[in-house]
Amino acid sequence: MTDTTQWTDDHFVGGDLALDFANTVFRRTPELGRDLLDSPEALSSWFGHAGLLPATESRCDGSTLRKARELRGLLWRIFDEQRHDRPLPTDALSDLLGMAQADLDGVVAADGTVTPQTAAGACSAVALRAIRLALNPPARPVRACDRCGWFFFDTSRGRRRRWCSMQTCGNQAKAARYRSMH
Ligand SMILES: [Zn+2]
Repeated sequence: MTDTTQWTDDHFVGGDLALDFANTVFRRTPELGRDLLDSPEALSSWFGHAGLLPATESRCDGSTLRKARELRGLLWRIFDEQRHDRPLPTDALSDLLGMAQADLDGVVAADGTVTPQTAAGACSAVALRAIRLALNPPARPVRACDRCGWFFFDTSRGRRRRWCSMQTCGNQAKAARYRSMH
């Protein structure tokens, strides 16, 4: 595996760290695409780009990567139910609570912001963010891109956002529609 994912701000369009973490695959729909968390290094650099850990200290190993992917699977299950306004799966929520507890380290500020110390602690910090989002959702519901299934908050005025990003899925959808009409 030579080409580890290079994260850019285009990977962080969900509006919440937990959603961005859930969006670390090329696409979720219509079928699962390439895993962007393809190596411990990719996970390390995600934590760095997300500002959870200094890039120099965010060393991950294979077991942290496995935990991260497991965590991501829980987020998919929970937020796919939440965005359809259905009850959250209690077993996934229970596992998420366990993950948040398991390796919690670093500093938790008075406002609830977690500054982890290790890569495993960073996974716990993401789990905590997801718990906060799942149990105390903002007024705008979580949605998913019509095209790739990435999660996001719809902050547009008309609440008609359909794409994770106009630059990627929005333009591709428009191009596909153009082709089908001409
Ligand atoms: Zn998309």
